[in-house]
Amino acid sequence: MNINVAGKSFEAGRVFCIGRNYAAHAKELKNDIPDEPVIFCKPPTSLVSHLQHEIPFPSFGSVLHHEVEIVVLIGKAGKPESETDALNYIAGLTAGLDLTMRDVQDDLRKQGLSWEKSKAFDCSAPVGEFTPFTPEQQLADLCFSCAVNGVSRQSGNTGNMLFPIPRLIVEISRYWKLLPGDLIFTGTPEGVGPLLRGDCIEINFAGHNCLNP
Ligand code: ZN
Repeated sequence: MNINVAGKSFEAGRVFCIGRNYAAHAKELKNDIPDEPVIFCKPPTSLVSHLQHEIPFPSFGSVLHHEVEIVVLIGKAGKPESETDALNYIAGLTAGLDLTMRDVQDDLRKQGLSWEKSKAFDCSAPVGEFTPFTPEQQLADLCFSCAVNGVSRQSGNTGNMLFPIPRLIVEISRYWKLLPGDLIFTGTPEGVGPLLRGDCIEINFAGHNCLNP
């Protein structure tokens, strides 16, 4: 998937996702609060552009949950030296959905198995249109939300993150050298819930309508 932001073009690369980054969401799924960020990955085939207006319903499992999240686009290669330096790696921001087959995830978790089947499937990561990041933007005060069939479901603010965005970037780069086009799904606030076939989900970031499939 190609991402254009501020006159630059990026081929979307790896999709890093953060689990349990909002205390109220960790609680609603009866998870412990982590001491360090929980990181998992989705393949690039999980991405769905904001230009695509339909998301296929998975052919396995039955309980598809929406998780609206702020998504960070990485703009340069390397490993940031500090959380302040991490800001230099951000090219753009938007909202996205970390779609999850919750019944499949619950089964995998019970068996102590990894989450891929429930979270990394095709088209499990729709993203909105990216807006350029400027250092003046307050990363710790970004509003985002989602609504299903016109009814508000989730409403978040990055100020409630357990691990703020610069910390996430530093943590990921401890294990993976960052590359332009990498995306980071930064975790979902409380209010996750089911999507049914034919539902219309709308996600919003900073007052802009990012996606309306
Ligand atoms: Zn998530």
